[in-house]
Parts: sequence; C-alpha cells; structure tokens
Amino acid sequence: MNCIFCDIASGEDKKNWVFETEKCCCFPDIDPKAPVHLLLIPKIHISSLQDLKKNNIEFINDMFLSIPKITEKLGIKSYRLVANTGKDAGQSVMHLHFHILGGRELGWPPG
Ligand code: AMP
Repeated sequence: MNCIFCDIASGEDKKNWVFETEKCCCFPDIDPKAPVHLLLIPKIHISSLQDLKKNNIEFINDMFLSIPKITEKLGIKSYRLVANTGKDAGQSVMHLHFHILGGRELGWPPG
C-alpha cells in the first residue's frame, strides 16, 4: 500500500520528529496553518477514526496519552486537536492523524 504517513512512520528519516513512542510519532505539518502545527500519527496504518477497532485501540490510547507530553515539551498551553475524518471533512491523507494546532488565537467555529 502506498501511504505517505506509513513511509514517515517507518522512521527512516526522523530528523524533524518532535516526539515518538513505540506506537506513535509526531512531526510538523508540511503546510502549517498556525505557528505550531504538528501531526500525530499511529505507527500502524489506520485509515481514519472510522477504522477504529478493539484491536487497534491501544494505538489511540497511546496517541492521546502522548498529547500532553508533546504540548508540555513544546510549552504550548492552549491548542486545538483536529481529526478530519472523511473527504467532506477535509481528510486528504487516509492514515489517521491528529492535527495539534496552537501558537495563535484560533477562531471558532472552524470553516
Ligand atoms: P488532512 O487534510 O486532515 O488529511 O491533513 C493532512 C495533512 O498532512 C495536511 O495538513 C498536509 O499539509 C500534511 N502533509 C501531507 N504530506 C506531508 C508530509 N510529507 N509531511 C508533513 N505533513 C504532510
């Protein structure tokens, strides 16, 4: 399967990773929408939140537990977590990812 985030998660090039565990990794979005714009992904292929199953939930648990560690490490006190799910919601990479956005005031509701 050709998946850009699986390629990244393989860890061949970790130089811009800001955080990793055995199950997930976090790196800057290539097209940042805020001063802080990170992507947090599982190290296995899960297409989206719609693809969550009991047998992959440990990856999601690990991702959620990683979030406060990442934001603490980067000194971000306010941030937004986004998981675009499905084409109409703006998901362009079909490998589950959380956007972590911060470093500026974020409007609500999002577009
Ligand atoms: P989404 O549109 O919610 O699926 O988010 C996918 C995100 O992945 C977009 O914000 C892209 O800018 C980002 N992206 C795509 N390719 C790369 C890459 N090679 N490295 C870092 N971010 C990427």
